[in-house]
Amino acid sequence: MRSTISSNAKPLRSGGEAITIQRSPSLADEVYDVIFGQLMALKIAPGSRITVDNLVRELNVSHTPIREALGRLEGEGLVNKAHLVGYSAAPQISRRKFDELYELRLLLEPDAAKRAVANMNETGMKELQEAAGVMFRRDGTDERVRYSTFARQDAIFHDKILDLAGNQLIRETLAHQHTHFHIFRLMFHSRVTEEALDEHDAIVTALSSGDAFGAEQAMRNHILHSRDRLLEAFD
Ligand SMILES: [Zn+2]
Repeated sequence: MRSTISSNAKPLRSGGEAITIQRSPSLADEVYDVIFGQLMALKIAPGSRITVDNLVRELNVSHTPIREALGRLEGEGLVNKAHLVGYSAAPQISRRKFDELYELRLLLEPDAAKRAVANMNETGMKELQEAAGVMFRRDGTDERVRYSTFARQDAIFHDKILDLAGNQLIRETLAHQHTHFHIFRLMFHSRVTEEALDEHDAIVTALSSGDAFGAEQAMRNHILHSRDRLLEAFD
């Protein structure tokens, strides 16, 4: 599939007046979104080489936004850059790393959900409800787009709860793992998002009613189910 991105950048004007460079502020973001979507939907396979020239041809843009996007994805742990070799998609996480990651999440996130109840406020609740992703339920949107959007929303949702829990070190530790991008690449399946949305609803409901114990349980339940859903990828 060829996905062309149209550049809104206007040609440079020369002459008596000053030259104004009008670079579309969204082009780099658009390129990033497309490559991010391809990585999340496994269209770019984990571990495979990513050639800048191929992307230039496929997306019909210059090298600059591509390199920018790849740099950003490198920072998010989805792309690796090796000297003289170039870019490649990050390899799939190992079963061992997967188990360790879920063990860490189970230790930290249910407790964080419990503590978030005490610090809940109107703004926090609104942000959580948005990130809970309910509006991304089946609505005719391209499955690939929906999937990668949900992966990002899920990261924001969990990070927001850790933020409200108040321990910034725990929050940074988990953010540094780029958990959500790695686990969502294990399997591209609508079940992964549909069931998670219901579980997010349960977490939001407990948080909004000030039920600390319920929030802790709902978060544990969500992480355990998420683990079970994605474990199938290792069969
Ligand atoms: Zn989640």
